Amino acid sequence: MSDYKYKRVLLKLSGEALMGSRSFGIDPDIPQRIADELKPAYEAGVQIGVVIGGGNIFRGISGAAAGMDRAQGDNMGMLATVINSLALQDTFEHNGMECRVMSAIEMHQVSETYIRRRAIRHLEKGIIPIFAAGTGNPFFTTDTAAALRACEINAEVLMKATKVDGIYDSDPVKNPDAVKFDTISYREVLKRNLNVMDSTATALCQDNHMPIMVFNLDGDGIFDRALRGEDVGSTVVDE
Ligand code: UDP
Repeated sequence: MSDYKYKRVLLKLSGEALMGSRSFGIDPDIPQRIADELKPAYEAGVQIGVVIGGGNIFRGISGAAAGMDRAQGDNMGMLATVINSLALQDTFEHNGMECRVMSAIEMHQVSETYIRRRAIRHLEKGIIPIFAAGTGNPFFTTDTAAALRACEINAEVLMKATKVDGIYDSDPVKNPDAVKFDTISYREVLKRNLNVMDSTATALCQDNHMPIMVFNLDGDGIFDRALRGEDVGSTVVDE
């Protein structure tokens, strides 16, 4: 444990990451890869909270684009995050990693309800809380849920796993000359409208001095290295 720089973190995983090579839903290999990434730190006693998105199943904004009421679509999106959380829970438990799904929308039969003090108690006991159903409110994203939960549990850092290996000044997939930032300020992220997290999530982190680390969770122990304080990906910090 003493080798780790961070003792309590919040990891945000996008729902899309669960698709792997599929175009929809969950590739069963991916939750296992995530468990493999988390297990060394879990076993060493690092306290890890997880937020997972739902974009592999449903996004409220796509529903709205197709004529659906936005709040109704967002409720569907939040339920999608619960499905992903249950999938992660199943895999974590198969790997001997104790965890609890804590939903922001009450559904006693399938998960605990999110209660901040209980979540902190889980963390202290070495149990991974998987925060499901986003913030429980439409018009938000799971990035904002991750920022909120990170602040609520007093995480030292919010770690966001993305498809790219950090924050670039333009989309590195489209622009081969895109430049990667090692560190960047919240203000700069907001001013340049960089695709790190949505502006609500970024502003919440800024107001609460919550550092955001962005990296690609691609299976080479990067999560563990990030926890040990290695410079991986990009970090958003105060100026
Ligand atoms: N959502 C919501 N409120 C929240 C979090 C999520 O309404 O607090 C809905 C919203 O429709 C969103 C969907 O859940 O599109 C899935 O979350 P998100 O798009 O953030 O997932 P990700 O992009 O991380 O897969």
